[in-house]
Amino acid sequence: MTTMDIHQRGDLIFPRSLPEFQRQFPDDAACAAYLEYARWPDGFVCQRCGAIGNPFRIITRPGVLECRACRRQTGLLVGTVMERSHMPLSVWFWAAYLVASQTQGMSAVQFQRQLGLTRYETAFGILHKLRAGMVRPDQDRIGGRPKEHVEIDETWVGGRTRGEGRGIHHKTLVAAAVEVRRRKPGTAQDKRKDGRYAGRVRLAIAVDRSADSLCGFVETAVMPGSLIVTDDWSGYASLRKRGYDHHAIAECGDPEVAEQFMPMIHLVFSNLKTWLNGIHHGVSAKHLQAYLNEFTFRFNRRFYPFNAFRSLLGIASGVEAPTYNELYSGAWEHPTCSGCLR
Ligand SMILES: [Zn+2]
Repeated sequence: MTTMDIHQRGDLIFPRSLPEFQRQFPDDAACAAYLEYARWPDGFVCQRCGAIGNPFRIITRPGVLECRACRRQTGLLVGTVMERSHMPLSVWFWAAYLVASQTQGMSAVQFQRQLGLTRYETAFGILHKLRAGMVRPDQDRIGGRPKEHVEIDETWVGGRTRGEGRGIHHKTLVAAAVEVRRRKPGTAQDKRKDGRYAGRVRLAIAVDRSADSLCGFVETAVMPGSLIVTDDWSGYASLRKRGYDHHAIAECGDPEVAEQFMPMIHLVFSNLKTWLNGIHHGVSAKHLQAYLNEFTFRFNRRFYPFNAFRSLLGIASGVEAPTYNELYSGAWEHPTCSGCLR
């Protein structure tokens, strides 16, 4: 089953309130039944002998089904972010519900408290696994729609510069692309924005402000042929040669010019920084990409937050999630929303 299918499955309902959640997922067995139904809507099929029909269910191991014909055991969590986890299924479902239903998401500290977990590290690990479910392996490029354009810019995120002298900093460069859409005539409009609003975004860490790095980001994030608006930084000069309809705006340092020609990208950057500092109190460069992925995921689904529930658990999408050791040792590389920049 592909990632697309899971979102087209109208039969896989997701809870929209706490009472609904309680009714739908009262215990581990109910969560397991949901996972089983997601994978085999027409009934369990044994991978070894092909037998169809009701498998044995083991009460003490709700994540495992056993074929009645050949006794082969099948794991329900294989290919989800819950694979290899010792956490009860109900805790995972609680976690996904909390993360999906809170518009701004949660810090690991709040999350630990809400789930009643004894260790901070467990909360941190679960959140990062859920973040792995926020990146679709087959993510497409944005833009490419007629009469719409894409704003591109880069900004420094995090770090401190004070007291360390000129030119030394611990900030990380982040490149962003955002679709600019227009409301249909006759709908309620924000006058200042001239009927424009932000469509989908893509965010990725950029190694530097060179053409290779910035144009490389554009090529992985935006459909060729799209109309792209940037400032007049030389790093973007080769976009036309790379197959984009590129418009560079001079004087972008002037706030009025920036507001008129690139309003959406500045809104995205300002929201991103507020969110990183307000919810997460700043994040380390090592894990920044995972937070960029979460921001992107929330931003692109801001009109349909509850749809996020199934994606987060990675049900039937075959995502790979980090173990705690991989997170800390640095062996895990957070996937980027728009391909890898290096
Ligand atoms: Zn079998």
